[in-house]
Amino acid sequence: MNKMAQKLAPSGVARDFGFFIDGEWRHGREMFERKSPSHDVIVTRIARCTEDDLNDAVAAARRAFENGTWAGLASSERSAILLKTAELLKQRRDDIAFWEVLENGKPISQAKAEIDNCISCFEMAAGAARLLHGDSFNNLGESLFGMVLREPVGVVGLITPWNFPFMILCERVPFILASGCTVVVKPAEVTSATTLMLADILTEAGLPKGVYNVVTGTGKSVGQALTQHPDVDMLSFTGSTGVGRSCIHASADSNLKKLGLELGGKNPIVVFADSDLEDAADAVAFGISFNTGQCCVSSSRLIVEESVADKFEKLVVAKMEKIRVGDPFDPETQIGAITTDAQNKTILDYIEKGKAEGARVLCGGNKVDLGRGQYIAPTLFTNVKPDMSIATDEIFGPVLSVFRFSTLEEAISLANDTVYGLAASVWTKDISKALKVTRKVQAGRFWVNTIMAGGPEMPLGGFKQSGWGREAGMYGVEEYTQIKSVHVDLGKRTHWIA
Ligand code: NAD
Repeated sequence: MNKMAQKLAPSGVARDFGFFIDGEWRHGREMFERKSPSHDVIVTRIARCTEDDLNDAVAAARRAFENGTWAGLASSERSAILLKTAELLKQRRDDIAFWEVLENGKPISQAKAEIDNCISCFEMAAGAARLLHGDSFNNLGESLFGMVLREPVGVVGLITPWNFPFMILCERVPFILASGCTVVVKPAEVTSATTLMLADILTEAGLPKGVYNVVTGTGKSVGQALTQHPDVDMLSFTGSTGVGRSCIHASADSNLKKLGLELGGKNPIVVFADSDLEDAADAVAFGISFNTGQCCVSSSRLIVEESVADKFEKLVVAKMEKIRVGDPFDPETQIGAITTDAQNKTILDYIEKGKAEGARVLCGGNKVDLGRGQYIAPTLFTNVKPDMSIATDEIFGPVLSVFRFSTLEEAISLANDTVYGLAASVWTKDISKALKVTRKVQAGRFWVNTIMAGGPEMPLGGFKQSGWGREAGMYGVEEYTQIKSVHVDLGKRTHWIA
C-alpha cells in the first residue's frame, strides 16, 4: 500500500455517534456498527433511533418553524449562516472526506472533490435565499391588485441514500434552509457519519436550534415512520424506485405531504459515428465506472452507431481495463469498494445472469481480490438483447451493456426503451443531431459531448419512474415553497346585496 494510504487507513477504533435533535446531541439506547467496505474493520457505531426519537425530532423542527427563529429572519441573515457553513466546510473538508471514505468506500480524491461541490451548494443556496421572491399582478383592473407570495412549506423530512451520502445531503439541505423550512434528516444506515457531522458545523455557523435534526436507523423503522408522519409537510426522498413508490402510499395514507422523489435510472449514452471516438470512449468508461457505477445517473446503456461499433467497443475496453481499482486512501485509486454487502451480491448476481442469458463479456465480469474489502472490475457486455435483465434493470454497479443502431430514430427509440428517465448523454459533432436526440429522449438531465458535468445552479431530477420534482438551483429552492395568491381590493365594494 502507498504511504499516503497507510497514513489515512482506519485506526481500528470505531467512532461512536449520537443523534441530533433540537440543537443537542442524544445517546442511542441501542447502537449498530458500520464496517469499512474497503478495509473490513468496524469504523462507526450509530444510534438505532426509535419512533419516540423521531417524534421528538419532528416536534423540534415544528417548534423551530413556527417560532420564526429561522423562517422569520431576513434573507440576508439566513444567507450569512449558509455562507459561514461553506467557510467551515472548507476548513473541515479533509476530515469529512475521511469519514465519507471509511463508510462508503469511494476514493479519497473523489470524496474531497465532492465536498468542494457541497461547499458550492451552500454558496449557491446563500444567493438563492436572497433571490427568492414572489410576483405581483398590476393588470387586474383599477380596483384589484394581486400578489403571489412564496412561503416555506414547513417541516421537511429528508431521506438520503448511501452512494453520495454527503453530496446528496448538500444538494438538498442548503436549499431547504434557504427557503426557510426546517428539516429532519434520516441518512442511509450504512453512511450516517457525515450527515451527523454537518450538525456541529451548522450549529457553529449560527443555525438556530431545531432547524436541522438528524435521526439514524434503518429505512424500515425510522425511515418509514418519517414518510408516514402526520406533522411532516414535505418529504424529499432519494433512493430506489420501490421505496419511492412506498413514500407515495405513505403520503396518501397520512397527511398528503408534498413529495420530492429522486429515484433510479437506466441511463443511455448515445454515440454517433461522427463523434470524437477517443473522447467518447473515455466518457463511456467514466460514466459507468465512476463511484463504481453506484450513481443514479451512471450511463449503463451504451447505444453506439453500427458503422463504428466494433472499433468503439475496443476503445472502451482499452479504457476500462486501465481503470485503477484499489484502496480508496491511495491517491492513485480511481474506483474503490462496493459500498454494501447486499449491493456487492446484487452486482455479481447480475453479471452471472448476463452471462447465463447469452450476453458476452468483453472485459471485467469478476471480483477484484485486494486481500480485504469488496471490489468489482468494470465490466462490459456485448450481444445484449433488450429483454435481458442486464438491459432493463438498474444494476447500480460498474456493468455496461452495449446496443447498436443504424438510424437516428432507432437510437432515440433504444434510449427511451426504459421505465426510467433520469439522465442521458449524446456524442456527435453534428449539433442538429445532438439537439434532435436531446429533444426526443426523456430524461431530466442531459449531457451533450460530456458526462456528469454540472453544478448547483442546474436542477436535478427525473422523468417517468425516475421521480418527481427538482432539487438544486433556483428550481430546487422553489420546490420547498408554496404559493399564496393574495387579492387586494383598492376601491369601494360593489354590493352583492342591495
Ligand atoms: P433505498 O431506497 O433502499 O434507500 C434509500 C434510503 O431510504 C435509505 O436512507 C434507507 O434507509 C431508506 N429506506 C429504505 N426503506 C425505506 C422505507 N420503507 N421507508 C422509508 N425509507 C426507507 O436505496 P439505496 O439502496 O440506499 O440506494 C440505491 C438506490 O437509490 C438506487 O436505486 C439508486 O438509483 C437510487 N438513487 C437515486 C438517486 C437520485 O438522485 N435519483 C441518487 C442516489 C441513489
